[in-house]
Amino acid sequence: MSKKIAILGSTGSIGISALKVVKKLSPSFQVVGLTAYRNAKELAQQVRAFRPKMAAILDWKFFPELKALTQGTSTQILAGAEGLVAVAGESGADMVLSAIVGAAGLKPTLTAIEKGKDIALANKETLVMAGDVVVKAAKRSGSRILPVDSEHCAVFQCLNGSSPQDVHKILLTASGGPFRNLDRRRFSGITRAQALKHPTWRMGPKITIDSATLMNKGLEVIEAHYLFKVPYPKIDIVIHPESIVHSMVEFVDGSVLAQLGTTDMQIPIQYALTYPKRAASPVKRLDMARVGSLRFEEPDHRKFPCVRLAYEAGRKGGTYPAVLNAANEVAVRRFLEGRIKFTQIPAIIEKTLSRYRALTNGNLDGILWADRWARAHASNL
Ligand code: NDP
Repeated sequence: MSKKIAILGSTGSIGISALKVVKKLSPSFQVVGLTAYRNAKELAQQVRAFRPKMAAILDWKFFPELKALTQGTSTQILAGAEGLVAVAGESGADMVLSAIVGAAGLKPTLTAIEKGKDIALANKETLVMAGDVVVKAAKRSGSRILPVDSEHCAVFQCLNGSSPQDVHKILLTASGGPFRNLDRRRFSGITRAQALKHPTWRMGPKITIDSATLMNKGLEVIEAHYLFKVPYPKIDIVIHPESIVHSMVEFVDGSVLAQLGTTDMQIPIQYALTYPKRAASPVKRLDMARVGSLRFEEPDHRKFPCVRLAYEAGRKGGTYPAVLNAANEVAVRRFLEGRIKFTQIPAIIEKTLSRYRALTNGNLDGILWADRWARAHASNL
């Protein structure tokens, strides 16, 4: 029997890699649902290639185009937020790959969790915004959350079922991004093109900017806290420019386990899909002799204040991580539009967080309220 999979955000960097993995693993995997935001052309091609039961496009403007381009297929074509939620919950998937970028991933991912589907989670923003809600929902429904983020996939493999009490430290590795060696005084002149040039990974634009500010690592700290039930003081970041060691776990007995590999997201995606089994893959092999040496260093918190902001929001908990995430999404979008400087990204997040007074608790309504408040506030800033 083949495993049925729905991919939310199938037209993005992770979505496209996931479809390559599924193709290689065929016929053990079958695609039953696909979604996109606006890219009707790519989505239609995917529908023609994979023949899912359902496909949905968020923006209604592109619905007629998608309908026309998929004419003659038996796929049910949907649109709007309800369409995405239907693909997540009603397409008959055993597993849902959550690969939408940003807060938009929360509702469909939560729907899939509530229906008891296993989740391959790339959309870290879902856990950052609503970690408690997501974890509780998964516990209630029996849904398993399997990390796709390469760092969390590494930690997951190192832990291999160990209890949180056995963990002394989780060490999340970070490449350091394109500005690791740039003098702090030159940060205000960083351009969009420079920030979009990641030294080791090819990814969508939002996560690439998050990697340049190191907010990506901050979000990953919060993600790790919820995925592995480990308190913040036990989660550290180490800069590792080669991006070969994807993360490490130090256990209470002093043993440190690491997971290594080439920088190809097909490896962690495939592991989430086939877990607990492994399947052969034609990915590029890691040649340690050619790699030669590996470096590790401390992050520079003065250059990259986003790391501190993420730890602070994570420690406060409740709705603070949702505010951090929303302010970051707004600031990154403005930077990509060329409307603010690189250095204004952390400044906007910090101001938004400092003006936020948590009047709501951390339930879903409170989180969504905090998200809206932070977007409005950050936009004004
Ligand atoms: P991309 O920008 O490449 O793709 C995003 C996907 O989500 C596209 O399918 C896009 O559709 C869709 N989308 C965008 N906005 C919305 C919206 N408002 N509502 C519904 N769908 C939307 O992102 P990535 O693939 O790089 O990243 C996806 C997620 O995975 C992020 O959370 C990221 O942090 C995480 N991740 C990514 C890694 C990577 O290597 N890329 C590594 C680890 C984690 P359309 O094409 O139509 O715009």
